[in-house]
Amino acid sequence: MRVLVTGGNGYIGSHTSLALIEAGHDVVIADSFINSKRTVLPRLEAIAGRSIPLHDIDLTDAAATDRLFADGNFDAVIHFAGLKAVGESVQKPIEYYRNNIDSTLSVVEAMKKHGVGKFVFSSSATVYGEKAPVPYREDFEYLQSSNPYGQTKVMIERILTDTAAAASAATTDDETTPEWRIALLRYFNPVGSHPSGTIGEDPQGIPNNLMPYLSQVAVGRRDHLTIFGNDYPTPDGTCQRDYIHVMDLAAGHVAALNHLDKQTDPVRAYNLGTGNGTSVLELVAAFSQAVGHDLPYQFGARRAGDIAANWADPTRANTELGWQATHTIEQMCEDTWRWQSANPTGFPDA
Ligand code: NAD
Ligand code: UDP
Repeated sequence: MRVLVTGGNGYIGSHTSLALIEAGHDVVIADSFINSKRTVLPRLEAIAGRSIPLHDIDLTDAAATDRLFADGNFDAVIHFAGLKAVGESVQKPIEYYRNNIDSTLSVVEAMKKHGVGKFVFSSSATVYGEKAPVPYREDFEYLQSSNPYGQTKVMIERILTDTAAAASAATTDDETTPEWRIALLRYFNPVGSHPSGTIGEDPQGIPNNLMPYLSQVAVGRRDHLTIFGNDYPTPDGTCQRDYIHVMDLAAGHVAALNHLDKQTDPVRAYNLGTGNGTSVLELVAAFSQAVGHDLPYQFGARRAGDIAANWADPTRANTELGWQATHTIEQMCEDTWRWQSANPTGFPDA
């Protein structure tokens, strides 16, 4: 298939673009570089051994997005583009709603107009909110999130569901209205890097997430890790999360894309996680092992909004998509460290 990968210059999109190419798909990337460097693409091309077309476009610009589709001849879209920092979204809700919702509307409008119905969306475990029982299952109905970032994911899932439902119910519509097949992929905690160590996660500013923070401590860019709370009702008192290797996540996108033709529901949600919870202390121990020495940490106060534990029930993706996460926590740490130690300050600026 000829696949438009929005946000394909970013962390998960870049790894998925490679997996798509490896699986025989044609990839076209659209990215505004709002949260990624231009030096990612040459590295991607070096790994892929071929050039990869990339359009510098802000997808909130509906006219530009329409022009992209007019010339694109796409069979499917994987939509990664979006802003993703929870804390920043609380400070800048308008920017988050504008960017994430508008870009999705532009893309979906252009898909409808140009008759492209296959869509894979980057959703998140955050849509389960704070009240869902663990492990999270896709059939949990009451989706909500406590922060604007998460709320954009809930809203986009709704927009996509309504769009597909309207098309299914329509008796007359313009000729191009596609038959929608939409996969909502709810990621748990993506970590790790391509085994080459030449691409990886490169957060701008101080990392919010555990793994990039820890790897910056390991490489000497930060003094120590502060562990947010050690009095949670978990085996060691620190929070548990379902960390998933980005290569497994990338494979999950290929599986979801290839399955769209067989997907009976117009819209289907899938958890992409391992099904295992790992505590902060366990991750610190595994990362220390990968680096070869202990990493400094201190216990601090709980972070507002954190829940004690969550992990996926990945049964639906396992059975319907034939996909399963295979990488261990040790591999996640080793691959993250290979990338971070070879690229202490991330991708070069130019
Ligand atoms: P990322 O920031 O590395 O990649 C996103 C890419 O989208 C960036 O290259 C950015 O420049 C681009 N972009 C943003 N807004 C754009 C716009 N309006 N037009 C064009 N390009 C735009 O993030 P990531 O970690 O690769 O995440 C990809 C997707 O997965 C996001 O939608 C994110 O919300 C979702 N997600 C990420 C995580 C995670 O922990 N990384 C977890 C759950 C879901
Ligand atoms: N965490 C931490 N110190 C940090 C960053 C994160 O102790 O500097 C903890 C955080 O409280 C949570 C876990 O690590 O329990 C994973 O946090 P992350 O932000 O990576 O993922 P999320 O909370 O969004 O699942």
